[in-house]
Amino acid sequence: MENLTHSLLGATLASIAVPRTATVVQRRVFFITGLLAANLPDADLVYSGITPPPLGYLLHHRGHTHTIAGLVAFAALAWLITRLPRVREAIGTASARFWWLVALALGSHLLADGWNNYGIHPFFPLSNQWFYGDVAYILEPWFWMLLGVAVVLNTRNRHGRWSLAALLIALPLLGVAIGMLPWPAIAAMAGVCCVLSLALRTLDEPRRALISLVALLTFVVLSWNLHGAVVRQINQADPFGAAQTLDLILNPRPANPLCWDALRLTRDATAMLTISQRTVALPSAESSACGRDAAPEWRTLVRESIPELQQLARDNCEVRAWLQFGRAPALGDGLISDLRFGAAVRGNFSALRFTETPPPRCPPNLPNWTPPRSDVLDRF
Ligand SMILES: [Zn+2]
Repeated sequence: MENLTHSLLGATLASIAVPRTATVVQRRVFFITGLLAANLPDADLVYSGITPPPLGYLLHHRGHTHTIAGLVAFAALAWLITRLPRVREAIGTASARFWWLVALALGSHLLADGWNNYGIHPFFPLSNQWFYGDVAYILEPWFWMLLGVAVVLNTRNRHGRWSLAALLIALPLLGVAIGMLPWPAIAAMAGVCCVLSLALRTLDEPRRALISLVALLTFVVLSWNLHGAVVRQINQADPFGAAQTLDLILNPRPANPLCWDALRLTRDATAMLTISQRTVALPSAESSACGRDAAPEWRTLVRESIPELQQLARDNCEVRAWLQFGRAPALGDGLISDLRFGAAVRGNFSALRFTETPPPRCPPNLPNWTPPRSDVLDRF
């Protein structure tokens, strides 16, 4: 997820963890800790330049810092910082609550990043395999609203409270203005926001935070259920015949959990990999939830030879490295890119340009993530 959601999660957890009788200094330490810990795994962006682009970003972001082992290392760093007398003094007698906050805020980052189709590989070094939630868009306005209401109400500084409220109102409106978000979804969100604000207004700080956290988790659980409904609708009318489905990549539209984008990867008897795309509207195929963007029939985006892809992976170490990330690999015009991030091979941040002749030098500092498409690359 983006850092606004991570920050709101950190602030929410800090509101729950901070003692009711906290001093001003204690309160400040808890909120800074919540915000930092909830964002810290994205520190990998600082060193992703150790491998040239785009591989550096693709392989190091959501890399080692987004693993359980990485979180343990961050917790050890936090322990070292709390050895400083001034920090220890500021935490005072609330050290148990403080360490719960560190653990939950760090864990919240991994959990939230695991919800979308970008993936994480949390069990390194025991397993280098990617895991994909496929239940949340990477920028989800419902998350901002469900967490934001309590964070705004709990912000004591008047200037900070109004600035945050203005940001949380402006972002969805901007999304509507640029055509990324449908206005009916934003209107529904505004309605829920009003009800939630009224319900939380009279409660104390930790209760507000707890209720908004439960609301967020309920939204995610509902999204898991909707994910199941999407799979069922796809399987009901299966036009793929004998072709073997390798992967079904699902992604709900932002702010609109009733419209999903689906990518399907299939392998047929002629060893061709086909990537097809459609939209799925809920609750039924007749629903108009996808509006003008509805494309309920499967459309083939690419068809490529699996032996050629395997050969390329064997001969070209840059492509081989890229395949540690690519889940929907598409080849075209000397480029390989991941169709999760756009239906075109070009103009997609994941695109890697390669040449027919192998590069003279392989990219440095590569990790060893299990290629998401090991199912077609198993022979190299
Ligand atoms: Zn992250």
